Amino acid sequence: MQPIGLFGGTFDPVHYGHLRTAFELWQELRLAEVRFMPTGSPPHREQPYATPEMRLQMVKAAVASQPAFVVDDREIRRTGVSYSVDTLTEVRKEFPYRSLCLLLGMDAFLGLPNWHRWRELLDLAHIVVAHRPGWRAPTMGPLGEVMVDHGTGTIRDLHQNPSGRVYVHAVTQLEISSTELRHLIIAGRDPQYLVPEEVRQIIRDTRCYAPRQR
Ligand code: ATP
Repeated sequence: MQPIGLFGGTFDPVHYGHLRTAFELWQELRLAEVRFMPTGSPPHREQPYATPEMRLQMVKAAVASQPAFVVDDREIRRTGVSYSVDTLTEVRKEFPYRSLCLLLGMDAFLGLPNWHRWRELLDLAHIVVAHRPGWRAPTMGPLGEVMVDHGTGTIRDLHQNPSGRVYVHAVTQLEISSTELRHLIIAGRDPQYLVPEEVRQIIRDTRCYAPRQR
């Protein structure tokens, strides 16, 4: 059976950098599907600007036209901080033998040693790292060691084992970030062509990135 891709993020808001990355990884790694998993209360960063419900609504709208993309809202439904290790443990219980691929941008991968119980992630899933503009694969430190011990250049390894490998894959470089998008929208500018039209409409209709006192 083909692997399931798990793509977590704040998605504040979701943009074409996320969507194109997920699409290329889905196609090139021959994943059965990519599950977008918007985080509820992210532990590693300041709290999102848009509410969990708004971020979820935007992700649902963004993926609606691609049947291989599904939305998994378990982290949004969970109260308290969402740890990836807990989410993966839950998904693993649902799919005990299936290959699971945690999809990460290089920036997220480089921050991995700060994640709660991060070393356990590879017991639960593979890690697939998408090259992002401006970031390099680690060669030293704990992640350098992980690359030596778990790295593979072979997609077959991701299909034949349920977890435990790290695979780095170059994707089309789209230098879009949610942070820059929020700044642009809060400044009153139009995010057209950086986000799907459906997402742009939601942002416009709900004013979920209207300037406000924090
Ligand atoms: P922010 O600017 O708020 O940190 P972001 O644009 O990095 O947001 P996240 O929701 O934090 O978006 O990212 C979810 C995942 O998508 C992460 O693994 C991140 O590395 C990846 N990602 C985000 N933007 C891109 C992009 N332009 N190209 C490839 N991967 C991306």
